Amino acid sequence: MFRHFKFVFLLVLLLLAFFTKVSLQEMLVVALVLYGFNYFFSTRTKNKPQPAQAETKEEIRKALISTGTAYYAQLSEPQRLVFEERVLNFIGQKQFIARGEGMVITTEIKVQIAACAVQLTFGLPELHFTHFRTILIYPDRYYSTIYKRYHCGEVNTNGIIVLSWRDFETGTRNAQDGLNLGLHEMAHALHQENSLHPGAYDFLNQEYLTCWQCLSEAEQSRMQAEKSVFRRLCAAPDTHEFFAVTVELFFEMPLLLEKEHPEIYQALSNLLNQDPARQAG
Ligand SMILES: [Zn+2]
Repeated sequence: MFRHFKFVFLLVLLLLAFFTKVSLQEMLVVALVLYGFNYFFSTRTKNKPQPAQAETKEEIRKALISTGTAYYAQLSEPQRLVFEERVLNFIGQKQFIARGEGMVITTEIKVQIAACAVQLTFGLPELHFTHFRTILIYPDRYYSTIYKRYHCGEVNTNGIIVLSWRDFETGTRNAQDGLNLGLHEMAHALHQENSLHPGAYDFLNQEYLTCWQCLSEAEQSRMQAEKSVFRRLCAAPDTHEFFAVTVELFFEMPLLLEKEHPEIYQALSNLLNQDPARQAG
């Protein structure tokens, strides 16, 4: 509509130039000046900072406590302040969209999702998963028209993270069963973010990442042959899924993962710069 307006505006100027005494050059100068004004103000509008975040630091802290976020609960007070700041910043950069009947986005929902991203990257410099701007939340599993089946979560290359809230909550309710949809999808997002922007960030140490990739492929074959207690690791169809499942176990069953697969545990500990087995012990 606005594009059409510009076209009509230029046409009127040209017609005026033909039918009045004003020269074409003068009309073009006027058009250029008006176009410059329009460009300046529209650019300013586009680059305008996002509106102030609805959540305050106090609300973030309250939500982290009331939702019983296990990882946050075991942090020291100075660490909690850093964690809260990161959650606040993460939320400020994402658009949370409710999908499906009855789904309403609350501060608690945003905080719990952000807390998974922050937990995963807490040992690294602050990271906002900038490729992923939108988080879609369904109340329950949703039907994927692409894969022709119901999903509980996914991370796609268009920069969207999709979650089933029921599955997300089930995952966070028990922090020791090795199942956590939020951490799983954030692990996919981290992996994808790192491969999309190689060199742009140094959040994953290249040496540790190479080590992880070599080790995870070899270890998965060994796990399948020796029948690891972690059946989901054996069944992971590719290295991306293997990484996401290992992240869940790393945080929720660190002692068992370290005991059963010490090299895998150590490689991930190096990569994420965290050592949950020491905190659990
Ligand atoms: Zn997955």
